[in-house]
Amino acid sequence: MTHPHPLVVDGDVRACGTCGSYRGWVVISLRDEVWLRCPASRHEQHKSHLDTAWHDRHSGPVTHRHDTYDDGLRNLGS
Ligand SMILES: [Zn+2]
Repeated sequence: MTHPHPLVVDGDVRACGTCGSYRGWVVISLRDEVWLRCPASRHEQHKSHLDTAWHDRHSGPVTHRHDTYDDGLRNLGS
């Protein structure tokens, strides 16, 4: 899923370490971890400190939990 609003984790806005972007994160839920992909698409993905419980709280139940990061990206059509 994409996350159009600033992504706040534990009271801090998550920003890309490369470009400082903080909106439009692509949030990909894997089996037991959550990855973030910078909206400036060629930046590296960011393994978040989030977990799937966080994802579920913020996004509702996950309908499809991807096996790999690449699988998640394919599912997004990117
Ligand atoms: Zn970036």
